[in-house]
Amino acid sequence: MTTSRELRCTWIAPSEDPDARLLVPGCMERVQDWDADCTCKSSAEELDELEARVAELEQQLDAQRDRYSSLHSADFREWRKQKAAVRKANDMHGTEIPS
Ligand SMILES: [Zn+2]
Repeated sequence: MTTSRELRCTWIAPSEDPDARLLVPGCMERVQDWDADCTCKSSAEELDELEARVAELEQQLDAQRDRYSSLHSADFREWRKQKAAVRKANDMHGTEIPS
């Protein structure tokens, strides 16, 4: 059976050893049977997988940004609470603090 997939993996003879054969990029089906159909991923399939991986990593990055942002705002709320508590304590002791 001839398909465009068969073009993906090819036996080549390296110039330094013309009697040897290398299967590039190589799939197990063709290693076991030279005449078998290639099952290597096509460039389009590899591209689809890589684009899906990039999208997945971008989602993880967004989630980390959201997490950092919420942690940061929680820290800011805590800092304001502490500042208000210090201000209140100083007011009770009649101490002015600069704003
Ligand atoms: Zn192959």
